[in-house]
Amino acid sequence: MQRNPGEGEFHQAVREVLESLGPVVTKHPRYLDDALIERLCEPERQIIFRVPWVDDQGQVRINRGFRVQFNSALGPYKGGTRFHPSVNIGIVKFLAFQQVFKNALTGMPIGGGKGGSDFEPKGRSDGEIMRFCQSFMTELWRHIGEYTDVPAGDVGVGQREIGYMFGQFKRLTNRYEAGVLTGKGLSYGGSLARSEATGYGAVYFAQRMLQKYGQGLEGMRISVSGTGNVALHAMRKAVELGATITACSDSSGYVYDPEGIDVDLIWDIKENRKDRVSAYAELRSGQARFVANDAGSIWDVPCDCALPCATQNELDLHNARRLVENGVVAIVEGANMPCTPDAVGIFRNAGTLFAPGKAANAGGVATSALEMQQNASRDRWSFEKTNQRLEAIMVDIHDRCDELAAEYGTPGNYALGANVGGFVRVAEAMQALGV
Ligand code: GLU
Repeated sequence: MQRNPGEGEFHQAVREVLESLGPVVTKHPRYLDDALIERLCEPERQIIFRVPWVDDQGQVRINRGFRVQFNSALGPYKGGTRFHPSVNIGIVKFLAFQQVFKNALTGMPIGGGKGGSDFEPKGRSDGEIMRFCQSFMTELWRHIGEYTDVPAGDVGVGQREIGYMFGQFKRLTNRYEAGVLTGKGLSYGGSLARSEATGYGAVYFAQRMLQKYGQGLEGMRISVSGTGNVALHAMRKAVELGATITACSDSSGYVYDPEGIDVDLIWDIKENRKDRVSAYAELRSGQARFVANDAGSIWDVPCDCALPCATQNELDLHNARRLVENGVVAIVEGANMPCTPDAVGIFRNAGTLFAPGKAANAGGVATSALEMQQNASRDRWSFEKTNQRLEAIMVDIHDRCDELAAEYGTPGNYALGANVGGFVRVAEAMQALGV
């Protein structure tokens, strides 16, 4: 902590993992050899760079770009790219650290990394987004590659941004190296089911967990925070599997619909009309209610299952207490670390099922690895095949976390199972590769 002052989220993520490894290192003390734990907590490489670009008024703007290449014991660094004003080195390190464990859990040959910029895409024109992405890649290209580091999207980076970055990479290197980025569009090497994968994967995980420890998803009332790619696809899959979405939110507030949110309408409002969720309540007046951020939280609404899919630390101690008082059965993290440590403590004490992001949202990166496979073999799989592979991977991650939780702690402690499962795979490879 002294070496990395001011990196609160990174400390939080590291502490959460290390606190759960006690039983494993007690049983296998060799995992403490050669400063393995210290090496695991130190990124292999951190790149920070200037991103100059010109806005529509002709004014030069400067942002900061980051890529943290955390661990490559299992394969090339792999992880998303986030464009959001809150991005700083501490945030990127926390995301990259989590990515190491998440990627290991998928069982695919990928290491962990993450990148991004403090650039605010909201309110920027398409031309500004393109120039920013091109400038970002003008520095990043020399650090990445199919066998080195494979970025993808995250908050603020979708298929459009990946397209602009891939175009610039291709121009700078004179190589059509499709496997250098994932989350690509279908017209230039993207994979079917990649856009759906994180949201669908979280719901597949929830379904498996609820089948094991409850009654399954059918008939459950679900609250989903966030209206980005993860949340929208999670809502769609949950409804397809028989659940009802009773509340959803964006950064302005939440909307509650006791009859069940019409997911197509929310999609239309967010994707086509580019409007706020409050528009839903206006269109469904008399049935749905909008509550602004300063008047309440989505977690005040009683539900059986909560899917926080917005951002880190969005669900705190107070929210967790409310959810438990209202009888929540399961929490499934669609975002990365959306529940604070205090909130997780409340769920643990209450016996609420808790699926951590590094297991529950691993479907996105797992499908990125499937995209890499398709690119490497110059092949293209059907939606059904890719989706089936995704579902099988999620079931496998679930079962492994569940087994390890029972072996090293308490049955149903998925946070412990995920940390142990990720750690063991990375630790074995790191030890085999030497210091
Ligand atoms: N940003 C996603 C995540 O947090 C996906 C990363 C990827 O596909 O490489 O896992």
